[in-house]
Amino acid sequence: MAKKIQAVRGMRDILPEQTPLWQFVEKTARQVFQSYAYREIRTPVVEMTELFKRSIGEVTDIVEKEMYTFEDRNGDSLTLRPEGTAGCVRACMEHGLLHNQVQRLWYTGAMFRHERPQKGRYRQFQQIGLEAYGMAGPDIDLEVILVSARLWKELGIPGLELQINTLGTPGERKAYRARLVDYLQAHRERLDEDSLRRLESNPLRVLDSKNPDMAEVIAGAPALMDDLGEESRAHFQVITAGLEAAGVDYVVNPRLVRGLDYYSRTVFEWVTDLLGAQGTVCAGGRYDGLVEQLGGRSTPAVGFGMGVDRVVAVLEELGVNATDGDPQVYLVLAGDRVQAPGLVLAERLRNALPGLRLQVNCGGGSFKSQFKKADRSGARMALILGEDELQQQTVGVKWLREQRDQVSLAHDQLAAFLKEEIGE
Ligand code: ATP
Ligand code: MG
Repeated sequence: MAKKIQAVRGMRDILPEQTPLWQFVEKTARQVFQSYAYREIRTPVVEMTELFKRSIGEVTDIVEKEMYTFEDRNGDSLTLRPEGTAGCVRACMEHGLLHNQVQRLWYTGAMFRHERPQKGRYRQFQQIGLEAYGMAGPDIDLEVILVSARLWKELGIPGLELQINTLGTPGERKAYRARLVDYLQAHRERLDEDSLRRLESNPLRVLDSKNPDMAEVIAGAPALMDDLGEESRAHFQVITAGLEAAGVDYVVNPRLVRGLDYYSRTVFEWVTDLLGAQGTVCAGGRYDGLVEQLGGRSTPAVGFGMGVDRVVAVLEELGVNATDGDPQVYLVLAGDRVQAPGLVLAERLRNALPGLRLQVNCGGGSFKSQFKKADRSGARMALILGEDELQQQTVGVKWLREQRDQVSLAHDQLAAFLKEEIGE
């Protein structure tokens, strides 16, 4: 027998029972972003490999070991996007969207990283991200964080912790880097293999280690905050004061560095304790150096990326149900001759009531089996069209979840009746 073909490891099917929650997250995000005047941008899933090497940085987990890179038929090295920022910046540069203007943008889509699959960590996952370009002041950092805070509010997710830190300017980071390297060298024997490697290539990222055995060494490391100049301090202070004024709780986490190379000054993460080790549902910050690093004119930038898979998992943990998509009305068609007229009646109802969710029984079946399906559909009421009803241009109305008498209604009264009962 031929080998069964299954989905690629770490890549999931999202089944119809699960998609309403995904749609809820996507719809809510779109509404929240619109309420701040952010506009959507869509970029390709595949980019030149060079783009990610140059933006994310050669010595990051992503570029070192997580990218899906392949040669296409022309021999070009292409990569499935592991994150959304690089493509967004590339598109904006290519189309002149960064020149003497500000941009507020958002995107969503599948991202690909060859990681070890586990709960909350997949090889294909979805991000919703937001980017703001052309604004150097702390006001936009604050706005971006407030957008994310509002997202949790609208999604009904309480209890996420906002962790925030500042990485200062590249110059300040350099001074810190030297102090950090001294400290780590002095504690070399306590570093794991990964950290020893990072100590050489990218010492700040030792602080990003997920290894619990490293927690103590990391806790004792010097803090970057002490190397900040006046301007970076002031920038950070506007943000923390703004969060306080807006009533958004936060904790300053001096060890928060983020895995990507392109951040400067503000970094933040939203963390949950509901998902075990994969606790970060959203991460972002300022990345003023990136556009220039990609060959453009220096452009201030700030944004975040949210892991939709993890946000949906949080909603599931909280027992949130999204049943918005269920039909409201189920049309039972009793008899062969009513099938086509039934579909036509359904079309008329949908014309009259654009929001109506109406499922028609296709494929026949006994009265009993049709009612079983009606019940399972989640609809509130069944409309019954048999040959007698068709003759009289009526339908029977039977309530599926309420104790109400069955009634008979004329076809031309139906739209008004449904409007009244369902309110759409
Ligand atoms: P982590 O530390 O968990 O590996 P990261 O720092 O690599 O995360 P980012 O590159 O900042 O993650 O991506 C932003 C968000 O996208 C993360 O906070 C997380 O919610 C989500 N995310 C990242 N990688 C994955 C993955 N492999 N599967 C599911 N979600 C992911
Ligand atoms: Mg990662």
